[in-house]
Amino acid sequence: MNKASVSERIALIARDSAEGAACAPELNAGPWEFDAQPPAYGPGASMGDVIPVGTPRQGALPNEYKTAGNDELHERIRAAKATLGERVVILGHFYQRDEVVQHADYLGDSFQLANAAKKHAEAEAIVFCGVHFMAETADILSAPEQAVILPNLAAGCSMADMADSDSVEACWEQLTAIFGTEPDAEGRAPVIPVTYMNSSAALKAFCGRNGGIVCTSSNAAVVLEWAFERGQRVLFFPDQHLGRNTAKAMGVPVENMPLWMGRKPLGGNTEAALRDARVILWNGFCSVHKRFTVDQIDKARVDHPGVRVIVHPECPMPVVDAADESGSTDYIRRAVEGAATPTTFAIGTEINMVQRLAADHPEHTIFCLDPVVCPCSTMYRIHPGYLAWVLERLVAGEVVNRITVDDDTAQFARVALERMLAAKPA
Ligand code: SF4
Repeated sequence: MNKASVSERIALIARDSAEGAACAPELNAGPWEFDAQPPAYGPGASMGDVIPVGTPRQGALPNEYKTAGNDELHERIRAAKATLGERVVILGHFYQRDEVVQHADYLGDSFQLANAAKKHAEAEAIVFCGVHFMAETADILSAPEQAVILPNLAAGCSMADMADSDSVEACWEQLTAIFGTEPDAEGRAPVIPVTYMNSSAALKAFCGRNGGIVCTSSNAAVVLEWAFERGQRVLFFPDQHLGRNTAKAMGVPVENMPLWMGRKPLGGNTEAALRDARVILWNGFCSVHKRFTVDQIDKARVDHPGVRVIVHPECPMPVVDAADESGSTDYIRRAVEGAATPTTFAIGTEINMVQRLAADHPEHTIFCLDPVVCPCSTMYRIHPGYLAWVLERLVAGEVVNRITVDDDTAQFARVALERMLAAKPA
Protein backbone atom coordinates (compact mmCIF):
# COMPACT_ATOMS: atom_id res chain seq x y z
CA MET A 1 0.00 0.00 0.00
CA ASN A 2 1.30 3.42 -0.82
CA LYS A 3 -1.07 5.58 1.19
CA ALA A 4 -1.22 6.18 4.92
CA SER A 5 -3.73 3.96 6.70
CA VAL A 6 -6.60 5.58 8.57
CA SER A 7 -4.80 5.05 11.89
CA GLU A 8 -1.65 6.66 10.50
CA ARG A 9 -3.61 9.61 9.11
CA ILE A 10 -5.33 10.17 12.43
CA ALA A 11 -1.95 10.05 14.18
CA LEU A 12 -0.63 12.66 11.72
CA ILE A 13 -3.68 14.87 12.17
CA ALA A 14 -3.35 14.60 15.95
CA ARG A 15 0.27 15.81 15.62
CA ASP A 16 -0.85 18.69 13.35
CA SER A 17 1.31 17.41 10.54
CA ALA A 18 -1.28 16.33 8.02
CA GLU A 19 -3.90 18.19 6.08
CA GLY A 20 -7.54 17.48 6.81
CA ALA A 21 -9.38 16.69 10.00
CA ALA A 22 -10.43 13.74 12.09
CA CYS A 23 -13.88 13.76 13.72
CA ALA A 24 -12.15 12.88 16.99
CA PRO A 25 -8.37 13.26 17.34
CA GLU A 26 -8.69 11.17 20.55
CA LEU A 27 -8.81 8.21 18.15
CA ASN A 28 -5.05 8.50 18.20
CA ALA A 29 -5.06 7.16 21.76
CA GLY A 30 -5.22 3.42 22.45
CA PRO A 31 -8.82 2.15 22.68
CA TRP A 32 -8.09 0.92 26.23
CA GLU A 33 -8.28 4.59 27.28
CA PHE A 34 -12.01 4.47 26.48
CA ASP A 35 -12.61 0.93 27.72
CA ALA A 36 -11.72 2.19 31.21
CA GLN A 37 -14.26 5.02 31.07
CA PRO A 38 -18.03 4.81 31.65
CA PRO A 39 -19.73 2.82 28.86
CA ALA A 40 -19.76 4.76 25.59
CA TYR A 41 -19.08 3.95 21.96
CA GLY A 42 -15.90 6.01 22.15
CA PRO A 43 -14.49 8.44 19.59
CA GLY A 44 -15.47 8.01 15.95
CA ALA A 45 -18.75 8.16 14.07
CA SER A 46 -20.94 6.76 16.88
CA MET A 47 -19.54 8.84 19.71
CA GLY A 48 -22.78 10.84 20.06
CA ASP A 49 -25.03 7.76 20.18
CA VAL A 50 -26.55 6.64 23.46
CA ILE A 51 -25.15 3.26 24.48
CA PRO A 52 -27.66 0.86 26.14
CA VAL A 53 -27.27 -0.06 29.79
CA GLY A 54 -25.62 -3.46 30.11
CA THR A 55 -23.55 -3.23 26.93
CA PRO A 56 -20.54 -5.57 27.28
CA ARG A 57 -17.38 -3.87 28.53
CA GLN A 58 -13.80 -4.88 28.03
CA GLY A 59 -11.70 -5.64 31.12
CA ALA A 60 -8.21 -4.23 31.53
CA LEU A 61 -5.68 -5.09 28.86
CA PRO A 62 -2.34 -6.10 30.40
CA ASN A 63 0.10 -3.20 30.35
CA GLU A 64 2.67 -4.92 28.16
CA TYR A 65 0.24 -4.75 25.21
CA LYS A 66 -0.56 -1.08 25.79
CA THR A 67 3.04 0.03 25.92
CA ALA A 68 4.44 -2.14 23.11
CA GLY A 69 5.17 -0.37 19.82
CA ASN A 70 3.48 -1.44 16.59
CA ASP A 71 6.53 -3.33 15.32
CA GLU A 72 6.70 -5.39 18.51
CA LEU A 73 2.94 -6.10 18.44
CA HIS A 74 3.06 -7.22 14.81
CA GLU A 75 6.00 -9.48 15.57
CA ARG A 76 4.18 -11.03 18.55
CA ILE A 77 1.00 -11.54 16.52
CA ARG A 78 2.93 -13.25 13.73
CA ALA A 79 4.79 -15.48 16.20
CA ALA A 80 1.60 -16.50 18.04
CA LYS A 81 -0.17 -17.19 14.77
CA ALA A 82 2.72 -19.33 13.54
CA THR A 83 2.69 -21.32 16.80
CA LEU A 84 -1.06 -21.87 16.62
CA GLY A 85 -1.02 -22.80 12.91
CA GLU A 86 -4.30 -24.34 11.79
CA ARG A 87 -5.69 -24.18 15.32
CA VAL A 88 -6.71 -20.56 14.71
CA VAL A 89 -8.33 -18.62 11.89
CA ILE A 90 -8.41 -14.82 11.94
CA LEU A 91 -11.23 -12.95 10.22
CA GLY A 92 -11.04 -9.24 9.34
CA HIS A 93 -14.01 -7.09 8.36
CA PHE A 94 -13.67 -4.60 5.49
CA TYR A 95 -14.02 -1.75 8.03
CA GLN A 96 -11.13 -2.85 10.23
CA ARG A 97 -7.95 -0.84 10.46
CA ASP A 98 -5.07 -2.03 8.22
CA GLU A 99 -2.90 -2.69 11.25
CA VAL A 100 -5.30 -5.52 12.12
CA VAL A 101 -6.38 -6.62 8.63
CA GLN A 102 -2.79 -7.44 7.66
CA HIS A 103 -2.97 -10.42 10.03
CA ALA A 104 -6.35 -11.72 8.82
CA ASP A 105 -6.71 -14.99 6.92
CA TYR A 106 -9.91 -13.63 5.36
CA LEU A 107 -11.15 -10.13 4.60
CA GLY A 108 -14.84 -9.64 3.86
CA ASP A 109 -18.28 -8.56 5.01
CA SER A 110 -19.93 -10.10 8.05
CA PHE A 111 -21.67 -12.95 6.27
CA GLN A 112 -18.74 -13.80 3.99
CA LEU A 113 -16.56 -14.02 7.09
CA ALA A 114 -18.99 -16.20 9.05
CA ASN A 115 -19.06 -18.56 6.07
CA ALA A 116 -15.27 -18.47 5.72
CA ALA A 117 -15.01 -19.68 9.31
CA LYS A 118 -17.15 -22.72 8.39
CA LYS A 119 -14.41 -23.87 6.00
CA HIS A 120 -12.03 -24.30 8.94
CA ALA A 121 -13.49 -27.15 10.94
CA GLU A 122 -9.95 -27.89 12.20
CA ALA A 123 -9.64 -24.47 13.86
CA GLU A 124 -10.22 -24.53 17.61
CA ALA A 125 -10.57 -20.76 17.69
CA ILE A 126 -12.02 -18.19 15.31
CA VAL A 127 -10.73 -14.71 16.12
CA PHE A 128 -13.27 -12.28 14.68
CA CYS A 129 -11.83 -8.81 14.09
CA GLY A 130 -15.19 -7.16 13.64
CA VAL A 131 -18.04 -6.33 16.00
CA HIS A 132 -20.21 -8.25 18.45
CA PHE A 133 -23.14 -9.30 16.21
CA MET A 134 -20.64 -10.69 13.67
CA ALA A 135 -18.97 -12.85 16.30
CA GLU A 136 -22.41 -14.08 17.39
CA THR A 137 -23.27 -15.08 13.81
CA ALA A 138 -19.95 -16.91 13.49
CA ASP A 139 -20.72 -18.77 16.73
CA ILE A 140 -24.17 -19.76 15.41
CA LEU A 141 -22.72 -21.07 12.13
CA SER A 142 -19.55 -22.72 13.49
CA ALA A 143 -19.18 -26.09 15.22
CA PRO A 144 -20.07 -26.17 18.94
CA GLU A 145 -16.51 -27.00 20.01
CA GLN A 146 -15.04 -24.01 18.14
CA ALA A 147 -14.51 -20.88 20.23
CA VAL A 148 -15.33 -17.53 18.61
CA ILE A 149 -13.25 -14.73 20.09
CA LEU A 150 -13.88 -10.98 19.86
CA PRO A 151 -10.56 -9.29 20.71
CA ASN A 152 -12.26 -6.33 22.41
CA LEU A 153 -15.67 -6.92 24.02
CA ALA A 154 -16.47 -3.20 23.69
CA ALA A 155 -16.59 -3.62 19.90
CA GLY A 156 -20.38 -3.60 19.57
CA CYS A 157 -22.44 -1.87 16.88
CA SER A 158 -24.47 1.22 17.65
CA MET A 159 -26.99 0.39 14.92
CA ALA A 160 -27.55 -3.16 16.17
CA ASP A 161 -28.03 -1.74 19.68
CA MET A 162 -30.86 0.50 18.44
CA ALA A 163 -33.21 -2.50 18.29
CA ASP A 164 -33.31 -4.50 21.52
CA SER A 165 -35.43 -7.60 22.06
CA ASP A 166 -37.81 -6.01 24.58
CA SER A 167 -38.67 -3.09 22.28
CA VAL A 168 -39.17 -5.35 19.26
CA GLU A 169 -41.34 -7.77 21.29
CA ALA A 170 -43.42 -4.79 22.51
CA CYS A 171 -43.83 -3.61 18.91
CA TRP A 172 -44.83 -7.12 17.82
CA GLU A 173 -47.49 -7.32 20.54
CA GLN A 174 -49.01 -4.04 19.38
CA LEU A 175 -48.99 -5.13 15.74
CA THR A 176 -50.56 -8.47 16.69
CA ALA A 177 -53.28 -6.63 18.63
CA ILE A 178 -54.17 -4.73 15.46
CA PHE A 179 -53.74 -7.39 12.80
CA GLY A 180 -54.18 -10.68 14.67
CA THR A 181 -52.27 -13.75 13.56
CA GLU A 182 -54.55 -15.26 10.90
CA PRO A 183 -53.40 -15.24 7.27
CA ASP A 184 -55.53 -13.54 4.58
CA ALA A 185 -57.37 -15.34 1.77
CA GLU A 186 -54.09 -15.70 -0.15
CA GLY A 187 -52.39 -17.32 2.82
CA ARG A 188 -50.25 -14.28 3.64
CA ALA A 189 -49.43 -13.61 7.29
CA PRO A 190 -50.34 -10.16 8.66
CA VAL A 191 -46.68 -9.16 9.26
CA ILE A 192 -43.34 -10.76 8.41
CA PRO A 193 -40.37 -9.66 10.55
CA VAL A 194 -37.13 -9.06 8.65
CA THR A 195 -33.91 -8.29 10.46
CA TYR A 196 -30.72 -6.98 8.94
CA MET A 197 -27.65 -9.09 9.63
CA ASN A 198 -26.50 -6.17 11.81
CA SER A 199 -28.64 -7.20 14.77
CA SER A 200 -28.29 -9.31 17.89
CA ALA A 201 -28.65 -13.09 17.79
CA ALA A 202 -31.78 -12.63 19.93
CA LEU A 203 -33.47 -10.67 17.14
CA LYS A 204 -32.42 -13.17 14.50
CA ALA A 205 -34.02 -15.82 16.73
CA PHE A 206 -37.15 -13.65 17.07
CA CYS A 207 -37.44 -13.72 13.28
CA GLY A 208 -36.87 -17.47 13.21
CA ARG A 209 -39.68 -18.01 15.74
CA ASN A 210 -42.14 -15.68 14.01
CA GLY A 211 -41.97 -16.71 10.36
CA GLY A 212 -39.31 -14.12 9.57
CA ILE A 213 -35.93 -13.95 7.95
CA VAL A 214 -32.50 -12.27 7.99
CA CYS A 215 -31.10 -10.12 5.17
CA THR A 216 -27.75 -8.63 4.27
CA SER A 217 -27.16 -5.44 2.31
CA SER A 218 -26.38 -7.68 -0.71
CA ASN A 219 -29.64 -9.61 -0.72
CA ALA A 220 -32.16 -7.24 0.92
CA ALA A 221 -34.32 -7.01 -2.25
CA VAL A 222 -34.47 -10.80 -2.67
CA VAL A 223 -35.38 -11.19 1.00
CA LEU A 224 -38.09 -8.51 0.82
CA GLU A 225 -39.59 -10.29 -2.21
CA TRP A 226 -39.61 -13.51 -0.17
CA ALA A 227 -41.34 -11.67 2.67
CA PHE A 228 -43.96 -10.01 0.42
CA GLU A 229 -44.87 -13.41 -1.01
CA ARG A 230 -45.62 -14.62 2.50
CA GLY A 231 -46.92 -11.52 4.23
CA GLN A 232 -49.20 -8.54 3.81
CA ARG A 233 -46.56 -6.22 5.26
CA VAL A 234 -43.03 -6.32 6.65
CA LEU A 235 -41.54 -5.14 9.93
CA PHE A 236 -37.94 -4.24 9.05
CA PHE A 237 -35.26 -3.62 11.69
CA PRO A 238 -32.91 -2.18 12.81
CA ASP A 239 -31.79 -0.05 9.81
CA GLN A 240 -34.51 2.21 8.48
CA HIS A 241 -32.33 3.36 5.57
CA LEU A 242 -31.57 -0.08 4.14
CA GLY A 243 -35.26 -0.97 4.46
CA ARG A 244 -36.48 2.25 2.87
CA ASN A 245 -33.92 2.35 0.06
CA THR A 246 -34.47 -1.29 -0.86
CA ALA A 247 -38.28 -1.19 -0.75
CA LYS A 248 -38.39 2.10 -2.66
CA ALA A 249 -36.25 0.61 -5.43
CA MET A 250 -38.79 -2.24 -5.59
CA GLY A 251 -41.62 0.25 -6.15
CA VAL A 252 -43.02 0.56 -2.62
CA PRO A 253 -44.21 4.17 -2.12
CA VAL A 254 -42.37 5.99 0.67
CA GLU A 255 -45.72 6.97 2.21
CA ASN A 256 -46.44 3.30 2.79
CA MET A 257 -43.32 2.94 4.94
CA PRO A 258 -44.09 4.44 8.36
CA LEU A 259 -41.30 4.78 10.89
CA TRP A 260 -41.71 2.93 14.19
CA MET A 261 -40.38 5.04 17.09
CA GLY A 262 -39.69 2.43 19.78
CA ARG A 263 -41.02 4.12 22.89
CA LYS A 264 -44.24 5.65 21.55
CA PRO A 265 -47.61 3.85 21.45
CA LEU A 266 -48.02 2.29 17.98
CA GLY A 267 -44.50 3.58 17.35
CA GLY A 268 -45.92 7.09 16.98
CA ASN A 269 -48.25 6.03 14.12
CA THR A 270 -51.99 5.87 13.65
CA GLU A 271 -53.65 2.50 13.26
CA ALA A 272 -54.75 3.57 9.76
CA ALA A 273 -51.13 4.32 8.74
CA LEU A 274 -50.03 0.91 9.98
CA ARG A 275 -52.90 -0.78 8.09
CA ASP A 276 -51.74 0.97 4.89
CA ALA A 277 -48.10 0.07 5.51
CA ARG A 278 -46.15 -2.22 3.22
CA VAL A 279 -42.97 -1.87 5.26
CA ILE A 280 -42.85 -0.69 8.88
CA LEU A 281 -39.36 0.68 9.42
CA TRP A 282 -37.58 0.56 12.76
CA ASN A 283 -35.99 3.85 13.73
CA GLY A 284 -32.37 2.63 13.61
CA PHE A 285 -29.44 3.91 11.57
CA CYS A 286 -25.70 3.63 11.16
CA SER A 287 -23.86 6.71 12.37
CA VAL A 288 -21.03 6.03 9.92
CA HIS A 289 -23.31 6.12 6.88
CA LYS A 290 -25.49 8.93 8.24
CA ARG A 291 -22.52 11.25 7.76
CA PHE A 292 -22.85 11.22 3.96
CA THR A 293 -24.81 14.07 2.39
CA VAL A 294 -26.16 15.23 -0.96
CA ASP A 295 -23.94 18.35 -0.64
CA GLN A 296 -20.86 16.10 -0.56
CA ILE A 297 -22.04 14.41 -3.77
CA ASP A 298 -22.72 17.77 -5.44
CA LYS A 299 -19.23 18.95 -4.50
CA ALA A 300 -17.62 15.75 -5.81
CA ARG A 301 -19.40 16.25 -9.15
CA VAL A 302 -18.17 19.85 -9.40
CA ASP A 303 -14.60 19.02 -8.35
CA HIS A 304 -14.34 15.81 -10.39
CA PRO A 305 -16.47 15.96 -13.57
CA GLY A 306 -17.37 12.43 -14.64
CA VAL A 307 -16.91 11.04 -11.10
CA ARG A 308 -18.68 7.75 -10.37
CA VAL A 309 -20.47 8.05 -7.03
CA ILE A 310 -21.21 4.80 -5.18
CA VAL A 311 -22.76 4.74 -1.71
CA HIS A 312 -23.81 2.04 0.73
CA PRO A 313 -27.59 1.51 1.13
CA GLU A 314 -27.26 2.31 4.86
CA CYS A 315 -27.00 5.96 3.70
CA PRO A 316 -30.12 8.14 3.92
CA MET A 317 -32.51 7.97 0.94
CA PRO A 318 -31.68 11.41 -0.56
CA VAL A 319 -27.99 10.39 -0.65
CA VAL A 320 -28.75 7.07 -2.34
CA ASP A 321 -31.01 8.89 -4.82
CA ALA A 322 -28.28 11.42 -5.66
CA ALA A 323 -25.56 8.76 -6.12
CA ASP A 324 -24.94 6.92 -9.37
CA GLU A 325 -25.11 3.54 -7.68
CA SER A 326 -25.63 2.03 -4.27
CA GLY A 327 -24.60 -1.36 -3.01
CA SER A 328 -23.06 -3.46 -0.25
CA THR A 329 -19.40 -3.39 0.67
CA ASP A 330 -18.85 -6.34 -1.64
CA TYR A 331 -20.68 -4.55 -4.47
CA ILE A 332 -18.42 -1.51 -3.98
CA ARG A 333 -15.30 -3.67 -3.98
CA ARG A 334 -16.36 -5.46 -7.16
CA ALA A 335 -17.30 -2.18 -8.87
CA VAL A 336 -13.80 -0.81 -8.29
CA GLU A 337 -12.07 -4.05 -9.26
CA GLY A 338 -14.23 -4.36 -12.37
CA ALA A 339 -13.64 -0.86 -13.77
CA ALA A 340 -11.73 -1.50 -17.01
CA THR A 341 -10.44 2.05 -17.50
CA PRO A 342 -8.98 4.51 -14.97
CA THR A 343 -11.97 5.94 -13.14
CA THR A 344 -12.59 8.50 -10.43
CA PHE A 345 -14.72 7.03 -7.65
CA ALA A 346 -16.34 8.97 -4.80
CA ILE A 347 -17.42 6.39 -2.24
CA GLY A 348 -19.84 6.64 0.65
CA THR A 349 -18.87 3.94 3.11
CA GLU A 350 -16.51 3.44 6.06
CA ILE A 351 -13.18 5.21 5.65
CA ASN A 352 -10.91 2.19 6.28
CA MET A 353 -12.43 0.37 3.34
CA VAL A 354 -12.24 3.41 1.05
CA GLN A 355 -8.59 4.06 1.97
CA ARG A 356 -7.72 0.42 1.34
CA LEU A 357 -9.41 0.44 -2.08
CA ALA A 358 -7.52 3.63 -2.93
CA ALA A 359 -4.20 2.07 -1.89
CA ASP A 360 -4.87 -1.21 -3.70
CA HIS A 361 -6.03 0.48 -6.94
CA PRO A 362 -3.58 3.23 -7.86
CA GLU A 363 -4.90 3.01 -11.44
CA HIS A 364 -8.08 4.75 -10.19
CA THR A 365 -8.68 7.94 -8.23
CA ILE A 366 -10.69 6.88 -5.18
CA PHE A 367 -11.78 9.10 -2.32
CA CYS A 368 -14.30 9.11 0.50
CA LEU A 369 -17.27 11.46 0.03
CA ASP A 370 -16.82 12.68 3.60
CA PRO A 371 -13.64 14.78 3.81
CA VAL A 372 -13.40 14.22 7.57
CA VAL A 373 -11.61 11.06 8.70
CA CYS A 374 -14.21 9.41 10.93
CA PRO A 375 -14.05 5.62 11.33
CA CYS A 376 -16.66 3.34 12.87
CA SER A 377 -16.13 3.85 16.62
CA THR A 378 -16.60 0.22 17.49
CA MET A 379 -14.60 -1.41 14.69
CA TYR A 380 -11.80 0.89 15.79
CA ARG A 381 -11.83 -0.67 19.25
CA ILE A 382 -9.99 -3.69 17.82
CA HIS A 383 -6.32 -2.73 18.08
CA PRO A 384 -3.24 -4.90 17.39
CA GLY A 385 -2.66 -4.86 21.17
CA TYR A 386 -5.92 -6.74 21.74
CA LEU A 387 -5.22 -9.11 18.87
CA ALA A 388 -1.77 -9.93 20.27
CA TRP A 389 -3.29 -10.48 23.72
CA VAL A 390 -6.02 -12.94 22.65
CA LEU A 391 -3.58 -14.89 20.44
CA GLU A 392 -0.91 -15.16 23.12
CA ARG A 393 -3.54 -16.31 25.63
CA LEU A 394 -4.53 -19.03 23.13
CA VAL A 395 -0.90 -20.10 22.86
CA ALA A 396 -0.90 -20.34 26.67
CA GLY A 397 -4.02 -22.55 26.49
CA GLU A 398 -6.53 -19.95 27.65
CA VAL A 399 -9.56 -18.74 25.69
CA VAL A 400 -10.42 -15.13 26.54
CA ASN A 401 -13.29 -12.97 25.22
CA ARG A 402 -15.32 -15.92 23.95
CA ILE A 403 -18.69 -15.01 22.40
CA THR A 404 -21.36 -17.65 22.85
CA VAL A 405 -24.99 -17.81 21.82
CA ASP A 406 -27.22 -20.11 23.90
CA ASP A 407 -28.63 -23.20 22.15
CA ASP A 408 -32.26 -22.07 22.01
CA THR A 409 -31.38 -18.66 20.54
CA ALA A 410 -28.90 -20.21 18.11
CA GLN A 411 -31.45 -22.78 16.93
CA PHE A 412 -34.06 -20.18 15.96
CA ALA A 413 -31.51 -17.69 14.62
CA ARG A 414 -30.28 -20.48 12.35
CA VAL A 415 -33.85 -20.97 11.07
CA ALA A 416 -33.96 -17.30 9.99
CA LEU A 417 -30.49 -17.50 8.46
CA GLU A 418 -31.36 -20.68 6.57
CA ARG A 419 -34.48 -19.03 5.16
CA MET A 420 -32.23 -16.27 3.88
CA LEU A 421 -29.93 -18.76 2.17
CA ALA A 422 -32.89 -20.57 0.63
CA ALA A 423 -34.34 -17.25 -0.60
CA LYS A 424 -31.12 -16.46 -2.42
CA PRO A 425 -31.52 -16.74 -6.21
CA ALA A 426 -29.34 -19.41 -7.85
S1 SF4 B 1 -20.28 0.77 10.35
FE1 SF4 B 1 -22.29 1.18 11.28
S2 SF4 B 1 -23.46 -0.75 11.05
FE2 SF4 B 1 -21.23 -1.21 10.71
S3 SF4 B 1 -20.48 -1.86 12.72
FE3 SF4 B 1 -20.07 0.36 12.55
S4 SF4 B 1 -21.91 1.30 13.50
FE4 SF4 B 1 -22.44 -0.83 13.07
